[in-house]
Amino acid sequence: MKTKLNAELAKHARLPESVCKRLLYARAKMGWINVKEEYETVSLRAEKNVKCKGCGKRLKRSKTFSQTLNPFNKKDGRLKTRQEIYEELSKESTAWHLVKEYCKECKTNGNVEKNVSSKTITVCDKCLQASCWQGIFMCDKADIAGTVEKTIDELKALNLENPCYWESA
Ligand SMILES: [Zn+2]
Ligand SMILES: [Zn+2]
Repeated sequence: MKTKLNAELAKHARLPESVCKRLLYARAKMGWINVKEEYETVSLRAEKNVKCKGCGKRLKRSKTFSQTLNPFNKKDGRLKTRQEIYEELSKESTAWHLVKEYCKECKTNGNVEKNVSSKTITVCDKCLQASCWQGIFMCDKADIAGTVEKTIDELKALNLENPCYWESA
């Protein structure tokens, strides 16, 4: 698989990098190249024991944060190191720990605090910023990025951009 991808890269070596990326990802999406399986994944599993914010029932929640060491996962123009990825995942995990949790019953009964902080905002899944997804300040991975939902509490803890971008989302 790796040689296939390298061959693809070589074939498009004369094209601008952004065009290359788009071609590869378009192919990956169609299943011609499985980009995801190629690369080492750095992941961080987080767990928390919290009380339901609605009824106080004990809850156990877990979530895994991950990124791959792929050629497009860059920071300041060079590949991110495992350590850098780990630090980013830790930030996401810290933010997730602050999210209010509700049990199933409270969710079905609507016994959920109707405040803005439990509302989720769509952000770029590469840089975790709403301004990028909205096309205001696009990160260098915007052309291959997808989206992810984050609560305002998580975004506040991440502190990556001005909160004004979450209002229009
Ligand atoms: Zn509850
Ligand atoms: Zn972005």
